[in-house]
Amino acid sequence: MYDLIVIGGGSGGVRAARIASQHGAKVALVEEYRMGGTCVIRGCVPKKLMVYASRFPIEFEEAHGFGWTVGPAKFDWATLKRNRDREVARLESIYRTSLEKAGVEIYEGSARLVDQTTVAVGDDHMLEGRIILIATGAQPTQENQLPGHELCIDSNQFFLLESLPKRVIVQGAGYIALELACILRNLGSQVDVVYRGSRVLRGFDAEVQEHLENELQQAGISLRANQKLAGVKRGPDGLDVTFDTGEVMEVDVVLKAIGRRPRTEGLNLEGVGISLDSQGAIPVDVFSRSVVPNIYAVGDVTNRVNLTPMAIREGHAFSDTVFGGKNVSVDHRLVPTAVFTTPELGTVGLSEDEALKQFPKLDVYTSHFKPMKATLSGHHSKMFMKLVVDRQSDRVVGFHALGPDSGEMAQLMGVALKLGATKASLDATLAVHPTAAEEIVTMRHPTRQHNA
Ligand code: FAD
Ligand code: NDP
Repeated sequence: MYDLIVIGGGSGGVRAARIASQHGAKVALVEEYRMGGTCVIRGCVPKKLMVYASRFPIEFEEAHGFGWTVGPAKFDWATLKRNRDREVARLESIYRTSLEKAGVEIYEGSARLVDQTTVAVGDDHMLEGRIILIATGAQPTQENQLPGHELCIDSNQFFLLESLPKRVIVQGAGYIALELACILRNLGSQVDVVYRGSRVLRGFDAEVQEHLENELQQAGISLRANQKLAGVKRGPDGLDVTFDTGEVMEVDVVLKAIGRRPRTEGLNLEGVGISLDSQGAIPVDVFSRSVVPNIYAVGDVTNRVNLTPMAIREGHAFSDTVFGGKNVSVDHRLVPTAVFTTPELGTVGLSEDEALKQFPKLDVYTSHFKPMKATLSGHHSKMFMKLVVDRQSDRVVGFHALGPDSGEMAQLMGVALKLGATKASLDATLAVHPTAAEEIVTMRHPTRQHNA
């Protein structure tokens, strides 16, 4: 009998298993694919390595203005893929070793709940556990009603591509669609992004959306707002894609990035008394406990905040609560996040529109400027920064940045906002000169004021 059986060896599951074991629990972890989960195997890590790869051509271009002659530059996809996959394999083995060192017993196979305390692993093992943690993550949303959907790829298959496709349609305009579109475009593909809405990145600050759209278009990405795919067929020289407008376009790859759904099929959740919510997620309380008292769930399968650091935080909090004798709940507010487009986007807190719903008197500070490097390089990209301030308390309630290193800035502004930073405290902070981030502490006059 195990104290804990964890289903899923991704960000949340691995952390929970290791911490529970360190608290003295006897732990088993079941993983059906590769240790490390989405983030390590086919998410954050390989994606960010490819983002780095995709930014070199811009650097080569920019180098001219600084006196360098570079070239002829040549890119080899196979080298990138080989090196990337080697790094992913290295990380995978670190994850495995860290669990083994912590005394966690690893089972390979697909897990299914037989009853509230029994987990079947494939056809081989039957495990008994006092507590069960479901950390099975999410998977790309499929759209099986689209004629020719089987000819399209998703983000999982993107990481398996053996060569750089010349012509790509990316469907969707969320995190994954835009990040992968930028990678492909900057490596040399022709990229059309097709999305059903009128703006990219639903839910982000409207000005950031607008500036990002301009930047993407200047980078040569064709944005097709308010459009859908009507069908995909194999043609003589590629895939013939028909839009809902009737237009037909020939491409080599159609990459669908239309969201992710919690991964619960085959787990027999209904059978043990757990009903899913309307998004297919496992409903849990603040301690990640489901309606069945000994079954918990963390990470993307609960569809709260679908980011790696949150899955890790939830997994850690679960183990501290259940096996460490502390009641630790996770704060799902004020989540700093970055979208690794080029230029990249970093944000924490509320968009201007969201803030207006909560704070009637709002000061908005914005700055849109040419980064210093661009003065010599001549690169078209501009930096955008924005602070949203509740005038009554002087608290900074939103920070948004678009441009180089914005993800790094969002991390630090996340600390500032968590500490309750006021505009006065930013004003009192000395600038680091010359940087782009100094703009955060030097924006003196509001661009606009709301007095609802
Ligand atoms: P996962 O990491 O998905 O782990 C779940 C594990 O459970 C998987 O290994 C799966 O094989 C296993 N599993 C599923 N069902 C079973 C079963 N029945 N039996 C046994 N094992 C099972 N987040 C960020 O914070 N930053 C980023 O830059 C970022 N980039 C991303 C890029 C992409 C392309 C994608 C797809 C996601 C990205 N994310 C990013 C999101 C991040 O990867 C997830 O939020 C995170 O991995 C969730 O962790 P998890 O533990 O909930 O699930
Ligand atoms: P998102 O929710 O970010 O975006 C989904 C996109 O697909 C939206 O543009 C949405 O349009 C569109 N869409 C949804 N359903 C359909 C449909 N039926 N037909 C056409 N379009 C559709 O999901 P992603 O898959 O991009 O990413 C999933 C999550 O993974 C993210 O939300 C994030 O939490 C995490 N992630 C984080 C990253 C990071 O931290 N850098 C990177 C990658 C992923 P609409 O807006 O109209 O709904």
